Amino acid sequence: MKVGLVYDPVYLKHDTGQHVENARRLEATISHLEQTQLKQQLTLLKPRAASAEEISLIHHNQYISHIRDVAQRGGGWLDVDTVMSPDSYQAAIYAAGGAIRASEAVMNGEVGSAFALVRPPGHHATSQRAMGFCLFNNAAIAAKYALAKYKLDRVIIIDFDVHHGNGTQAAFYDNPQVLYVSTHQYPFYPGTGGIEETGSGAGKGTTINIPLPAGCGDAEYLQAFEQIIVPAARRFNPQFIMVSAGYDLHWADEIALMQVSTNGFAQMVQIIKGLADELCNGRLVFSLEGGYHLQALAYSVKATLDVLLGNANIEDPLGQPPHRFQAPNITHLIRTIKEIHNLF
Ligand SMILES: [Zn+2]
Repeated sequence: MKVGLVYDPVYLKHDTGQHVENARRLEATISHLEQTQLKQQLTLLKPRAASAEEISLIHHNQYISHIRDVAQRGGGWLDVDTVMSPDSYQAAIYAAGGAIRASEAVMNGEVGSAFALVRPPGHHATSQRAMGFCLFNNAAIAAKYALAKYKLDRVIIIDFDVHHGNGTQAAFYDNPQVLYVSTHQYPFYPGTGGIEETGSGAGKGTTINIPLPAGCGDAEYLQAFEQIIVPAARRFNPQFIMVSAGYDLHWADEIALMQVSTNGFAQMVQIIKGLADELCNGRLVFSLEGGYHLQALAYSVKATLDVLLGNANIEDPLGQPPHRFQAPNITHLIRTIKEIHNLF
């Protein structure tokens, strides 16, 4: 099956200066995909701008206008972490539109699966607040768009970024149509994502948080995936899988304290792809969130695409963590989460 890649130079126009979330992230990734000749194996998908109506599936109209106005006034800081330049609004509506475009291409059968290589990232953005480098919640907008446009009943969002996707969780907290599952370092930014946050009202049980202690590596993430995400996904039986794909849990990424390798990402993606193939005709979309070590990001996005393409050889030039400290034992934590969600 074809694998789609959504990319456009418009994403480089969100100019954050010396910020860790900067245009070089995508430049390094695209250039690695070109140098390794992986790009030519992909079906390139041109993003469009998301309409105000589409963005308002998740965000308040006043907030959308505010983001547009800040850009028109020349940009500025929205909170201590999140900055805008004059072209950031345009990049942001194309980032949301990119996740939508990837979802459309998968849903209408143009491609089997797709990766939206977009920025600014999205999963911290709430209905009326920019935070954590995020302006509009690309994955949440695309998931809600897919639910409405294709009349779906069940979508899973798997969020493996090292930070908890508070914006995505909030968007679907009481919504039984979206199962939000997140692995993240905890306690850590943004502070949400405890095991007791499981959804509310009709959405009770459709939020699953897997808050992991610092130091987790490939083995611990695979344990969480196999023991919680796989049975939870099978029980929910999704029609479409969206992934908030952050690569800031790589051991070389200094924004957090996890120990995952590029090969570990490949194994996690293999599990997710297996679920999509088993449960929903392979319908699977990845939308980029974090990942701030340029090489780790580029190698790990390539590994993700290699797995989606079915390529056997995964290159991991950075290898395993060099001074691997004792990984935490998460067996008890996993058992507790399984008990909370009746996953036995
Ligand atoms: Zn992150």
